[in-house]
Amino acid sequence: MHYSEIMIRYGELSTKGKNRMYFINRLKNNIKHVLSVFPEIRVTADRDRAHVYLNGCDYLPVAESLKEIFGIQAFSPVYKAEKDVELLKKNVQELMLSIYQKGMTFKITSKRSDHSFELDSRELNQIMGAAVFAAIPDIQAQMKNPDINLTIEIREEAAYLSYENIKGAGGLPVGTSGKGMLMLSGGIDSPVAGYLALKRGVAIEAVHFASPPYTSPGALKKAQDLARKLTKFGGSIQFIEVPFTEIQEEIKEKVPEAYLMTLTRRFMLRITDRIRQERSGQVIITGESLGQVASQTLESMQAINAVTSTPVIRPLVTMDKLEIIEMAQKIDTFNLSIQPFEDCCTVFAPDRPKTHPKIKNVEQYEKRLDVEGLIERALSGLVISSISSQSENDEIDELLDSLL
Ligand code: ATP
Ligand code: MG
Repeated sequence: MHYSEIMIRYGELSTKGKNRMYFINRLKNNIKHVLSVFPEIRVTADRDRAHVYLNGCDYLPVAESLKEIFGIQAFSPVYKAEKDVELLKKNVQELMLSIYQKGMTFKITSKRSDHSFELDSRELNQIMGAAVFAAIPDIQAQMKNPDINLTIEIREEAAYLSYENIKGAGGLPVGTSGKGMLMLSGGIDSPVAGYLALKRGVAIEAVHFASPPYTSPGALKKAQDLARKLTKFGGSIQFIEVPFTEIQEEIKEKVPEAYLMTLTRRFMLRITDRIRQERSGQVIITGESLGQVASQTLESMQAINAVTSTPVIRPLVTMDKLEIIEMAQKIDTFNLSIQPFEDCCTVFAPDRPKTHPKIKNVEQYEKRLDVEGLIERALSGLVISSISSQSENDEIDELLDSLL
């Protein structure tokens, strides 16, 4: 016997009333996307369950992927067996012997979807239960919280057996809460912020500001690799690179150093907001958290945030650095994030940025710059690429080659 499919139970979406099918279809497509590295696999979904048909594909790597996909409550690998009572008894015995350990209790939960099958679910429970006792005389039956709950389902084409229940990632299927623009640097924080937005069903597009030649192709690749790490939670991500060199040079030249960071951030937010508008996103997501660096005082946030009324979601705002690092390790972005490539903010970082910038001063300094022209030119140079789990070796390397 071998696993033929994985049966998936939905999470919170069961509470979503008439939107249920929308959520389910979204989840199905996300599963397809993430599992597209396994070409043999087929995915179906109905109101109660989704099914991943392995078609000979190895179970373990598929299970590892499923554990990450938001919107899955739990899943079970399923054995396929013949719809023959005697053969089924043997399969049940074989399976139970392979998992039984002394002292374990069990129950059998049968379901007959094919009503032409000779035994109904009650008879199945009895006959298969008796087969288990025949193979393992010491075993105890227990209806409430047994150690082993062996489910048997008789369908049109075959019988299916399963006993494991593996916990999924929970959360909501990515995309069911709309779309946000994730401001993705190469740092530790923004990928974690993206992960948390994905968890609540927000699809993300990554906006990354690059200032070549001050920032290297390696810094860009690092941000793209971070975006790729986030695809395992729900599917491909559009990566939008913004040319930021001109703006940073202008600010550096015309604005007092203490205000450089505030102005830079205001430009980033304005540009991200324009991209959001064009691409029909609803919110902006950043990795800001309180008190880490000068830009992250409440006064700073206020001065930066003043350029837009679009909601800016800051999932990390009240988290400690250590908590964020722990989460970055859990989602496997930490080691990438600490690679030493300077991003545009560190290159131009002033020694002592203002922690309490005054809006009046900020606006005064901005008058020295052609704000609209700078934004327009940056927007006209966007480079957009689609990042998926497989694109690792082709698309991105091509991009890198063209830059080197
Ligand atoms: P991170 O670890 O995410 O880089 P940080 O602790 O370094 O954050 P800041 O440098 O103040 O903090 O950046 C705050 C937020 O601004 C980042 O989390 C990110 O959302 C956004 N940001 C900063 N630099 C860039 C960039 N080059 N491209 C896109 N977004 C950026
Ligand atoms: Mg940073």
